[in-house]
Amino acid sequence: MSNLAETCILVIEDEPDLRAGLQHNLELEGFKVLTAADGREGLRKAKDGQASLVLLDLMLPGMSGIEVLRNLREIGREIPIIIVSAKGQDRDKVQGLELGADDYLTKPFGLSELLARIRAVLRRTQVGAKAGVGEKSSVGGVMRFPDLVVDWRRFTIVRDGTEQQLSRYEAEILRMLIERRGEVVSRQDLLRKVWGYVHLPTTRTVDNHIARLRKKLEHDVDKPIHVVTVHGLGYRFESPLLEES
Ligand code: CA
Repeated sequence: MSNLAETCILVIEDEPDLRAGLQHNLELEGFKVLTAADGREGLRKAKDGQASLVLLDLMLPGMSGIEVLRNLREIGREIPIIIVSAKGQDRDKVQGLELGADDYLTKPFGLSELLARIRAVLRRTQVGAKAGVGEKSSVGGVMRFPDLVVDWRRFTIVRDGTEQQLSRYEAEILRMLIERRGEVVSRQDLLRKVWGYVHLPTTRTVDNHIARLRKKLEHDVDKPIHVVTVHGLGYRFESPLLEES
């Protein structure tokens, strides 16, 4: 994160005082700031691609924060999102993380905590985007497995003649499993390395992403041949590598 001035943060928050306060403080820190007062306006601004990160309140009039998040992830927009929830919204928070939010903050929060989270998420996602699935990694290029081709340069897979795009999380999970193919990778390991969380209320987030990944990877999700579950331990990538280019 060398140049903060290039980093634009979209604040989606319906409380006017909080919205103005966040804008003011983030601008003082050198960020460019866009704001939206409701979910629909927020979604529109997040889609247009100017912002590098979204601060997303969950309780919004009209369209909720969860719906905004779901919409963005459905259209494949991988913009980093920090959700902001009030106390007692734990279920929404977990759902938000499962839908691909990058972190969360509980109101009320201090400015220093907010800045630390923003910087951590930007660092994590920018490093991820730059290194892609390569650099310092033993996987890269195009890898062929039985009934499966993974193209790490484009984050796509081809299975049964159909090309599918991997989300950032799906690609990172798959990278980690393939790097350690033949070994069991625990859910905690995936959470730590892929999401960067030290603790989470549940590891279901991992299972839900694995389920989504399997839909793309496996011919029969009930009888997976690539990513298998090792009960009580985690997941293992089993297919032999046929070719690498
Ligand atoms: Ca609100």
